[in-house]
Amino acid sequence: MPTIGRMNGGKFDFLRVRRRFRQPITTGHGTVEAVDRILLRTEDAAGVGFGEAAPWPGFPTETCDAIAEALRSARGSLSHLQASVAASPGAFPCLSAALSSCAHWSEIEAFAGALPSAGLLAQPTAESVAEKIRGGYRTLKLKITGETSPDFLRGLLIGAPDGISFRLDANGGLTLEQARSWAELVRGLAAVEFLEQPLPVGHPGYASLGTEKIALDESFLAPGSLEWAGPVVVKPALAGDWDELLRWRRERRGPVVYSSCFETAFGRQAALWLAAQDPAAGTIGFDTLGRFEMDGRDRHEAGPIARGRLDIAWGDLWKEMT
Ligand SMILES: [Mg+2]
Repeated sequence: MPTIGRMNGGKFDFLRVRRRFRQPITTGHGTVEAVDRILLRTEDAAGVGFGEAAPWPGFPTETCDAIAEALRSARGSLSHLQASVAASPGAFPCLSAALSSCAHWSEIEAFAGALPSAGLLAQPTAESVAEKIRGGYRTLKLKITGETSPDFLRGLLIGAPDGISFRLDANGGLTLEQARSWAELVRGLAAVEFLEQPLPVGHPGYASLGTEKIALDESFLAPGSLEWAGPVVVKPALAGDWDELLRWRRERRGPVVYSSCFETAFGRQAALWLAAQDPAAGTIGFDTLGRFEMDGRDRHEAGPIARGRLDIAWGDLWKEMT
């Protein structure tokens, strides 16, 4: 698909937007109050496309500044931009993903499918678990840290109704000793699907933890970054070229979990489309709506089923954001 550029090479335009969280988000990388996103609009012989570059704290991608610089140097020429991204393999995973979204936009804007989404809990408490279950979620994602009490959490999980599954995410915040005991706990509880990113990126302890029920997120960015037989979390917005990603997925055996990284409506529509290309996508992690101050940049409906939308006038939305 990205062999565009015959008819005068195509052109592009971009916007940098800042989004402020209503409540600061705590990640393994500290507290995040706002994030920048770069929105891309392309136009070539194939038509108009939109994409979003959405770097996320703690993930080893390029920064928004680096993306903006690459965009400025291409001076609005889509073929120049594609050539400069292709000339530095692996250096622009977010920008590559955004360009993939632009190239697939006619399919993306026609996507109205639906996928079950896990509920994301701000705090692992009995009240927040009960609230998400009342909201219809069947899979819950809980953040844990080195300070989380394993006994408390075990009680919380065992006390949940039958049929509810859990995913635990440590965002790389555990010591090896803590990671080992959490891995043991997770393997002993059928309701827990996996423990995500127990150790920091590149930690040698992964070799001894084993892959059973250990998922990688921050450590897995794009195909080729790492071999892992356990589950991997793919954030489409950070995953590099999507055609390569889909090829890799067709050959991979282990589970892949698709996850949002707080995109605007442009990035969300595209990431949902991408997840839906995987027939084994299962439950995705897209419970990220309603977290920003009202800025008009979210357009999808929140809830346990994440759906694409056909009724968004994307060109108008772009103008509103300009
Ligand atoms: Mg994660």
